[in-house]
Amino acid sequence: MKNAFVGKLVCSSLVLLSFIFTAGVVSFAQQPALTAPQQLARDIFKELIEINTTDTPAGDVGKAAEAMAARLMAAGFPADDIRVIGPLRNKRNLVARIHGKGPGKPILFLAHLDVVEALAKDWSPNLDPFKLNEVDGFFYGRGTTDIKEGDTFLITTFIRLKQEGFVPSRDLILMLTADEEGGDSNGVQWLLKEHRDLIDAEYAVNTDAGDFEWQKGKRLLLGMETSEKNYVDFTLEVKSNGGHSSRPGKDNAINRLAAGLVRLGEFDFPVDLNETTRAFFERTASLQDAATAADFRAIVKNPADKAAAARLARSTYFNALMRTTCVATLLEGGHAHNALPQSAKANVNCRMLPDAKLADVENTLKKVLADDRISITVVGDPGTAPASPLHPVLMKKLEEFSKRLYGGIPVVPVMDTGASDGKYLRIGGIPTYGVRGVFMDVDDERAHGKDERVGVKDFYDGVEFYYLFVKSLAE
Ligand SMILES: [Zn+2]
Repeated sequence: MKNAFVGKLVCSSLVLLSFIFTAGVVSFAQQPALTAPQQLARDIFKELIEINTTDTPAGDVGKAAEAMAARLMAAGFPADDIRVIGPLRNKRNLVARIHGKGPGKPILFLAHLDVVEALAKDWSPNLDPFKLNEVDGFFYGRGTTDIKEGDTFLITTFIRLKQEGFVPSRDLILMLTADEEGGDSNGVQWLLKEHRDLIDAEYAVNTDAGDFEWQKGKRLLLGMETSEKNYVDFTLEVKSNGGHSSRPGKDNAINRLAAGLVRLGEFDFPVDLNETTRAFFERTASLQDAATAADFRAIVKNPADKAAAARLARSTYFNALMRTTCVATLLEGGHAHNALPQSAKANVNCRMLPDAKLADVENTLKKVLADDRISITVVGDPGTAPASPLHPVLMKKLEEFSKRLYGGIPVVPVMDTGASDGKYLRIGGIPTYGVRGVFMDVDDERAHGKDERVGVKDFYDGVEFYYLFVKSLAE
């Protein structure tokens, strides 16, 4: 009895002790002492995540822009240097400026404030997408990787610079915008059109592009985005007189279109490397296995090396880097089960290399489809953006930071196969460079998806990186 009782006591004390111990560790792990800039960044991040900025009735980008403007004002920015403007109240953008002492043209820093919709029921039960949740070394919430961490880096940096009384060599402009993810009020386009003077710059740095990559627990590379492939849709259509399907002839709209699409499916646009993709293949060869590395080097040396190109093209990503692609994505045709089709239509989605001309791509389609009865029409006004020329100063800075902070991993120019707001700035004549600032695991991509998250340490590293980076560009 006694022993048993003692045993029980010991046991409960152990449980109690281990409970205290565990609780202590947990609270210690979740709330390490933050530096003042880290605490500031965390507060800003939390405030931004918890303002719904989706393109829905519940979302309000203007509210987020105002909240950030209030923080800038409290940090000592004169009211004249802060603008909250947009075509609609809930689609307002924030533009702020730190005045420099030199005559150089400003540098513009941007991120978008809007996020893709997230429904709590689609997320893990303990995670509200519109609350900042810190769990086991990650911040969870909609926008934690796209791109409210980028907004946070920029606001935190501008506040720190202002509070230090830092006077840059030239003006620095901050721009946080609406409707990058969709919606009718893209902030970058609107600002370029209505207030170009507020955002005009020698070049822009976009936190919403480029890659700082983790892979299997190792820092892999720093990618600086210089360009994006241009998106364009074509409608293909074959028309025919139709008639009764009990007496078909050989002229059939569906068959003709299908035959053309098969020819298109078998066709590859020629390999065409640009300054960025050449540098990408050169600088990342050392990160690949020996065979792929040899193909990377071969294609740089001779883009007409068909064997190397064919092996690389087995990766849809490498293929997309090497050439313009066009692929059928939608199909419609006919009007009744028992009638010959009078129309057959397809949508062909092309991702053009930045230097490719729309008219050339259209002509190539015409040749490959090889049927005058297939009409080809461009959908809408695709507005193609040029590549930004490699920026030697930015490359050099990133190389310095890679050595200083990340063990000298390769700095690599990157052409995105998708699109960001950088497109509109490039069309507007402002060269734009994507610098992500925060390391992400290449095997754990959650932007736009369930349980979006960023590593807590990666986040704070990004806060510090951006502060040092912006300052070094402006000294
Ligand atoms: Zn984004």
